[in-house]
Amino acid sequence: MAKLKLAENKIENAHFDAKELFCKAFGKEPVYLDMSNFADAEKCSLFEQFIKRRANGEPLQYILGEWEFYSLPIKVGKGVLIPRQDTETLVDTAIELYKYKKDITAVDLCSGSGCIGIALEKNLDVKNVILAEKSHYAVKYIKENIKINNSKAKIEQGDVLSDDLIYRIPMSDLIVSNPPYLSSGDMKNLQKEVEFEPSAALFGGDDGLDFYRDIARLYKAKLKTGGHLMFEVGINQNNDVSNILLAEGFKNIGERKDLRGVIRVVFGEK
Ligand code: GLN
Repeated sequence: MAKLKLAENKIENAHFDAKELFCKAFGKEPVYLDMSNFADAEKCSLFEQFIKRRANGEPLQYILGEWEFYSLPIKVGKGVLIPRQDTETLVDTAIELYKYKKDITAVDLCSGSGCIGIALEKNLDVKNVILAEKSHYAVKYIKENIKINNSKAKIEQGDVLSDDLIYRIPMSDLIVSNPPYLSSGDMKNLQKEVEFEPSAALFGGDDGLDFYRDIARLYKAKLKTGGHLMFEVGINQNNDVSNILLAEGFKNIGERKDLRGVIRVVFGEK
């Protein structure tokens, strides 16, 4: 019935979502249920509420309160961008370039839930990881994610484009960012689920490229020579972002594709 309600409301993975929400409400998989569970009115009503929220388009991840990124548990909820599988390409690329380096200082700008920076810390030989984020809603989740992942990452709260925040960022080997990159046009055609996510984490100015321009201009001075600035980019933004990096004097520009074959990462070396 729950699955039907989701399907009726055009939820794509109705079966998977209904099962996940069931497990969240009842604390076990449907196959392990016996009738006594259905007598638990509280759990039944919880499940009903979950299904109602999902049928209304709220992302599954917000209702579950946690999602996996790079095999790490990441707490999410209203006010923070949900980690995407596409973004694992950014972590893959950073690992590819830095796996033999020791004691690196890495910075994750516009870090949202903190998922990228924490994944770097867990997979590289890192001395410092700094997670820079403006939204206090997101910072609340970063704190939880640091805790549940036993992370030593440091939070710098503030606008990544402000002098005050830039001043607090040390000289780094690697600066990564999945900034807001949707254009005005994209914002008008959001998937229903994405509308629940904070627009500040999505909207990158008229052409979607504002953060790339500003971050490339402002943060080159924070990279050691030979260090990299590495971005996630939206579909078809790779040429524009490469040109922004070249115009700021970065060299050895590189690109990487995500699992769907979309160029998802653009980086340059100082
Ligand atoms: N990848 C996000 C989306 O699917 C956009 C996130 C961003 O702007 N960085 O819409």
